[in-house]
Amino acid sequence: MGAPEKRRLTILGSTGSIGTNTLDVIRQLGGRDAFEIAALTGNGNIELLAGQAKATGAELAVTADEGQYENLKTALAGTGIEAAAGRSGLIEAAERNAGWVMAAIVGTAGLAPTLAAARRGADIALANKECLVSAGELFVRAVQAGGGKLLPVDSEHNAICQVLEENQRHAVERIILTASGGPFRNATLTEMRDVTAATARAHPNWSMGLKISIDSASMFNKALEMIEAMHLFNVRPDQIEVIVHPQSIVHSMVGYSDGSVLAQLGCPDMRTAIGYALSYPARPALDVQRLDFAKLSRLDFEAPDEERFPALRLARVAMERGGVQGAVLNAAKEVALEAFIAGHVGFLQMAEITEAVMEAQSALPAAETMDDVFLADQEARRIAKTLVERNAAAA
Ligand code: NAD
Ligand code: MG
Repeated sequence: MGAPEKRRLTILGSTGSIGTNTLDVIRQLGGRDAFEIAALTGNGNIELLAGQAKATGAELAVTADEGQYENLKTALAGTGIEAAAGRSGLIEAAERNAGWVMAAIVGTAGLAPTLAAARRGADIALANKECLVSAGELFVRAVQAGGGKLLPVDSEHNAICQVLEENQRHAVERIILTASGGPFRNATLTEMRDVTAATARAHPNWSMGLKISIDSASMFNKALEMIEAMHLFNVRPDQIEVIVHPQSIVHSMVGYSDGSVLAQLGCPDMRTAIGYALSYPARPALDVQRLDFAKLSRLDFEAPDEERFPALRLARVAMERGGVQGAVLNAAKEVALEAFIAGHVGFLQMAEITEAVMEAQSALPAAETMDDVFLADQEARRIAKTLVERNAAAA
């Protein structure tokens, strides 16, 4: 009997929070004996990227930052590992013949490479949110046409995937996304007006990248997840519920027509979801903390407050309108988020700016091609930037 076949994997965004957790899962599952790394990609952190490539024996390392190409080449000199850079380098990484691709680039930058991997039929472990939020049906269709599987890594969608019985899809009544409520769950609007990026990024339960941490505080993260869930599980907007669950133990639930609700529980550790996606359909053995029910005295649930967290309402508007409205919401939100991180707009203004852009762009036709998505994204960014500048001038 020969050794079991290795999984050939590319990690888009290997230097981030999901990327480094993915490498830890790979190490736990046997490292080089079990996985062959085709390509790794990063952005500014060349030392980390080169170190990861050497440690895993990757064939190709790519920095998204063209200006860092020479540094990456120097760091990899003598190793035989190829170096590449920029958008074309990211596409090259995605198109390498790896059966599995972990899509963990943050933001819209992740869209084109993930799409390239989907089109050639790779199985996609999907962490990046923009693929489904912005490209929605087009992305799902690209995966279907390519013939690969789509395995969500985001803890909520991963949980739903785990409890969504494939032969009972017709009996699914509702998808219930849990939300921790973030650091401002109990804050008043007045308190929220003055918070800074430093306080907003301090998530109570999860350790994540900067942008997603702030998106969790504003609940834009949940807004994106609602839109993702609609596309991923092919349900109507009114079938998607959000419930605040401060302990982040129940990762999400599916309600069925007989009144049953199936939930997936676990400690808040992304490695469980990553391991599930990378080992599917098998369940891997992972060294993560186990839930101790005796110590877990209670699980709380409460309705979200859409007045303090308007992002949830905006997600419903985007879902009802359909078409490219997910792309518009996401692009406007990204510009507003960057402006918030830079200190140019306040915390609550992120939703105000996003809503204003969505109102200005409410009548866009549905996307026929990815170019339509990119156009909607760019136009939403342009409008959002003018609103940010107007705000800065008024301040
Ligand atoms: P992160 O910021 O820690 O890492 C992002 C990765 O993308 C890094 O490798 C970085 O080098 C790369 N990157 C950044 N800008 C880039 C660009 N312009 N072009 C190409 N690459 C670029 O983010 P993260 O927390 O690991 O999240 C990654 C994605 O997964 C995000 O879309 C996030 O919303 C989603 N996600 C994350 C978590 C989590 O627990 N961290 C959970 C669910 C979903
Ligand atoms: Mg999540």
